[in-house]
Amino acid sequence: MKQIVKDIDLIQSAEGEACETVKTTQEQNTGKSRKLYIESYGCQMNFSDSEIVAAILQEHGFDTTSEAQKADVIFLNTCAIRDNAEQRIWKRLRELESLKNKKPGLLVGLLGCMAERLKTKLLEEEKIVDIVAGPDAYRDLPHLVAEAEDGNKAVNVFLSREETYADINPVRLNSNGVTAFISIMRGCDNMCTFCVVPYTRGRERSRNPHSIVQEARTLYERGYKEVTLLGQNVDSYFWTSHPQITSLNEYRKALKRGEDLSKYEQVNFAHLLEMVAQIAPDLRVRFSTSHPKDITDEVLYTMQRYDNICKYIHLPVQSGNNRILELMRRTYTREWYLERVAAIRRILGNECGLSSDMIAGFCSETEEEHRDTLSLMEAVKFDFSYMFYYSERPGTPAAKRLQDDVPLEVKKRRLQEIIELQNKHSLERNLMDVGKVHRVLVEGYSKRSKEHLFGRNTANKVVVFPKENYEIGDYVDVLVEECTSATLIGKAVGKWTP
Ligand code: SAM
Ligand code: SF4
Repeated sequence: MKQIVKDIDLIQSAEGEACETVKTTQEQNTGKSRKLYIESYGCQMNFSDSEIVAAILQEHGFDTTSEAQKADVIFLNTCAIRDNAEQRIWKRLRELESLKNKKPGLLVGLLGCMAERLKTKLLEEEKIVDIVAGPDAYRDLPHLVAEAEDGNKAVNVFLSREETYADINPVRLNSNGVTAFISIMRGCDNMCTFCVVPYTRGRERSRNPHSIVQEARTLYERGYKEVTLLGQNVDSYFWTSHPQITSLNEYRKALKRGEDLSKYEQVNFAHLLEMVAQIAPDLRVRFSTSHPKDITDEVLYTMQRYDNICKYIHLPVQSGNNRILELMRRTYTREWYLERVAAIRRILGNECGLSSDMIAGFCSETEEEHRDTLSLMEAVKFDFSYMFYYSERPGTPAAKRLQDDVPLEVKKRRLQEIIELQNKHSLERNLMDVGKVHRVLVEGYSKRSKEHLFGRNTANKVVVFPKENYEIGDYVDVLVEECTSATLIGKAVGKWTP
């Protein structure tokens, strides 16, 4: 059992620490003349974007490949959220240099947040880069590739107020055939002072809900059993049939101007969740990320009404101290956050999975303020968290106006304390699941043993059990018998069919 547990912990970290994960394209042979290889770094949104990019280039003569050596075009879909994410890309470009020297016609493009942040500077500093495209410029990629093939450097970092790629049917990459991501909105209007996202992904805009439902329905018809609705702040999802309004902020401004909007269709996040949940009872619905300032009881009650909306919420708190939260411009307080957690527990019960993001050592954070983060963690007991130390990002309000004055070794020590406490809480929370039966959607085989399957329960916890006659894509009721801080381990008691 020890070996399996180790293996399973690996699965958890590969999936869980999304920010450290790299995903690459798989081999696809539909007879197209050229090969595209994409490496995607960073968040789920980037992985979802790479599927849009693959779909756009498929229409223009490209199949994907899993080997950079075979590619005619290599894209790195980049992340800029912390400095180490960018350092990884610089290192990867050095490695690709030798490949390019061997294959002179090979084109290398940088996509995503780092491309948007550094723009033409990338072309100046990196001779091997031929194409730079920001997150709103992917429709232009066929043209940018053609331009680069003509020997020119090609750049498009235009940020749009409308682009949602609603009409693009993504090519599913790295697919297990069971779970898929659907982007429901793009950009962010929140302006947290530490964060580069509003500058690299532009203004918030919500995608047409009917195209989202259609995408989810098509996935279901192709055998998928779970969709995750993605946005930087899904709770501010808001769509109206008014042709000029693409976000909640614009809608509020129009109301203030006294415009009559009653004749337009309006869909908020709770409505959207319901629309997707109604597709089929055996299509699970997840979503990420929720924002503490915006998550409503209406969303929580919608989750309560539908068994197929998973009882799991990623609700990043960042800090447990009010002065730091204000400096971060998160626009909620510790008390507000704890009240939202109380509402989750009241409406969805103690079993609802809850996770967070935490930043250690933000500008001017004192030891006492750091301890407020630890005490908030004690009060909530998150199932797991993504934990970081603060990394100053050029151009953000914090970089312009605040001093990054907590020494690196202090940041690292505080982060370590946060990680240790989280591990303790994860184990405590998992121990509560032992002895109970959990419904698991099977996603794949355990990496080292084809004799074991793994999947997730509704609270997003990884569950591993002996395969017997069960298959990937089955819903299996599993009696959990033991656990680690990352994994529940048990045995199947039966298959569930709706
Ligand atoms: N939209 C989500 C929210 O508001 O919670 C988060 C999106 S961001 C891509 C993911 C996480 O990265 C953040 O929640 C934050 O914890 C972390 N992060 C963002 N900027 C950071 C920075 N400059 N230094 C360290 N961590 C950072
Ligand atoms: Fe960044 Fe804040 Fe927007 Fe999240 S809500 S993407 S942390 S600005």
